[in-house]
Amino acid sequence: MRIKRLKLSGFKSFVEPAELRIESGLTGVVGPNGCGKSNLLEAIRWVMGESSAKSLRGGGMDDVIFAGTATRPPRDFAEVILFAEDAEREELEVVRRIERGAGSAYRLNGRDVRAKDVSLIFADAATGAHSPALVSQGRIAAVIAAKPAERRMMLEEAAGISGLHVRRKDAEQKLRATETNLARLEDLMAGLD
Ligand code: ATP
Repeated sequence: MRIKRLKLSGFKSFVEPAELRIESGLTGVVGPNGCGKSNLLEAIRWVMGESSAKSLRGGGMDDVIFAGTATRPPRDFAEVILFAEDAEREELEVVRRIERGAGSAYRLNGRDVRAKDVSLIFADAATGAHSPALVSQGRIAAVIAAKPAERRMMLEEAAGISGLHVRRKDAEQKLRATETNLARLEDLMAGLD
């Protein structure tokens, strides 16, 4: 998958709508301290379905919404749109929008979808909110210091199989629900005899 474009509005320090083109190859973000470099990387992870506010340096998810400054009022919502191309060269447009106090909503190519659908798309494409391709500050030191189990998770992300774990959990839950239903059915049938 290749990320081609990113649009932000009201996300952290990006209060004004901003649009960035991301060219092929390695992309580095440079700029003075506090200009929003990390916020940009966090916007990419956020639109890919990041569910941990802490890993976005916030106390709650609403903290991604522009909080206002001495001269500007806060915003009520934040929106990030990611334009990408998948392995089959199909265009993907993923939108995540959060309204203060009302949580997040996602759209994929114009259709409302769940957070999980978005996460799975990126996990299957060996990218996503926890992708080792997004190298934020302190990440290299974290890789060096990681425990074997954490390194394994990174390798699974890179190999594009982390989505399989989510599906396995779903399938196990469905199996358990079906087993419960079957047991009930057997009880009911025994009662009919
Ligand atoms: P450094 O090089 O020092 O790591 P950076 O370029 O990575 O800096 P960021 O950490 O991305 O900068 O941006 C920090 C700025 O974003 C701070 O000025 C902070 O006040 C601002 N910021 C973060 N969240 C919000 C928010 N919700 N509303 C308004 N501004 C925010």
